[in-house]
Amino acid sequence: MPMISLPDTFDAISGLDLHMHSTASDGALTPGALVALCHSRGVTHMALTDHDTLAGIDEASAAADRVGIRLLPAAELSAQWRGVTIHVVALLPTGPSVKMNEALTSQAEARVARSKEIARRLEALGLENALARAREQAGSERPLGRPDFARALVEAGVVPDMATAFRKHLGAGKRGDVKAHWPYLSDVIDWTRQSNGIAVLAHPLRYGLTRRKRGLLLDAFAEAGGEAAELVSGFQNADVTRDLARQLGEHGLYGSLGSDFHFPGGHLAPGSMSSVPRCDVLPVWRHPLMHDFAG
Ligand code: AMP
Ligand code: MN
Ligand code: MN
Ligand code: MN
Repeated sequence: MPMISLPDTFDAISGLDLHMHSTASDGALTPGALVALCHSRGVTHMALTDHDTLAGIDEASAAADRVGIRLLPAAELSAQWRGVTIHVVALLPTGPSVKMNEALTSQAEARVARSKEIARRLEALGLENALARAREQAGSERPLGRPDFARALVEAGVVPDMATAFRKHLGAGKRGDVKAHWPYLSDVIDWTRQSNGIAVLAHPLRYGLTRRKRGLLLDAFAEAGGEAAELVSGFQNADVTRDLARQLGEHGLYGSLGSDFHFPGGHLAPGSMSSVPRCDVLPVWRHPLMHDFAG
């Protein structure tokens, strides 16, 4: 099957999604099923970006090869910066490295220790056997995440829905938002660069930061060697994108695009996201390391 090349600009870009999840982390579809859905929706270039793991990459790559999709190995790494949990998408054009595998082993350990702390805190709020309940919701042995605890809170009737679980107990600044286990932002960027990868700041608009503080985050991110940020994550207002483009430009960052798809049936789908208004930011697939992927 002939491979389609990506255009040099954001105009008329389609069939690309550089941020999606599978059952290797908190997504609902297996890596193979995700690739099949991408194929059926016309996605030709994708990155699988599970939280703190590359465990889904082999299955996804095999499935992508079968249907003629270009798949970039990647992971969405959890980090902390000035007391805020920050996500970094590590795009790995040359594949997993020894360094990244070591780093992900320590991320998995951090996630396990963190899940015990989250469970302890939710038990203090009245959710008995929180760890076992979250494990049951996960339905597999992978390291737990906050969505598993959110589902456990809903299942136990402590809150009516996931949104309330995050708003009251697990979202930014709440008791269940445990971030002390995560490495510093600069470490995560180092691991990515040592792996011949590109560090992309995920969804810069979703950390609840003021524009000024977001500027400080971008300062720190670029200073530490981060090279790109998501210019569009799912659906967002065009004026907001224009303003973010200005901030990326000031920091000399490439722009990435992704849906942050987790499960079918919601408002997000693989490959669907807001379009990019005319701006000066360079697409991340123009990065020299991305030549083979884009070509
Ligand atoms: P963790 O990786 O354990 O820190 O969990 C973070 C994940 O929780 C995110 O990647 C989302 O998938 C999910 N999440 C965050 N906020 C919300 C929310 N308000 N409602 C539903 N899911 C959320
Ligand atoms: Mn997630
Ligand atoms: Mn994220
Ligand atoms: Mn994500």
